[in-house]
Amino acid sequence: MDALAQTIAQVIRDVPDFPKPGILFKDITPLLADHTAFRATIGGLCERARARGAEGLVAVESRGFLFGAAMAYELQLPLQLIRKPGKLPYKTVSMSYQLEYGSDRVEMHVDAVEAGRSYVVVDDLIATGGTAAAAADLVEMRRGKVAACLFVIELGFLRGRERLGARPVEALVTYP
Ligand code: AMP
Repeated sequence: MDALAQTIAQVIRDVPDFPKPGILFKDITPLLADHTAFRATIGGLCERARARGAEGLVAVESRGFLFGAAMAYELQLPLQLIRKPGKLPYKTVSMSYQLEYGSDRVEMHVDAVEAGRSYVVVDDLIATGGTAAAAADLVEMRRGKVAACLFVIELGFLRGRERLGARPVEALVTYP
């Protein structure tokens, strides 16, 4: 683990059995409360987005917004939002994805993505990869390019990367 990964791993809090039994929830609120660690995290994410040639950012509801907004401010890039159904006010495009039991759906404004532009998808954490894959699908559906999918935390044992196919995936901390 590099120094940034160690800092993040030390600051985030593991909450067992939240929101349901058997889930070990990675709570990023202590990271937000620690401005030194938060700045370092945003720095690490921005460095990776720059290296991938990001021309826009697509942040996933809701904790992805916290990181995506700070990155957009720092990188001076457009920020677009991926939200749960019914939250975005204007016309939307939507994408369903499979969960272990049942399915879920995310939406994006129909004019969010510029065709041919390169976007980085940002979220706090990749677990099974379903949410990020649906976000990436929405970008591509509007003929944007997905330069990378970027996360603070990766739960590697859930193999979320595989669900993202050939799209580059980067995380600041990976739990193998
Ligand atoms: P997935 O679609 O399975 O990759 O789930 C990713 C989304 O669910 C992200 O927006 C995460 O914030 C949230 N999530 C899933 N598992 C966890 C976990 N163990 N701790 C914190 N957030 C999680």
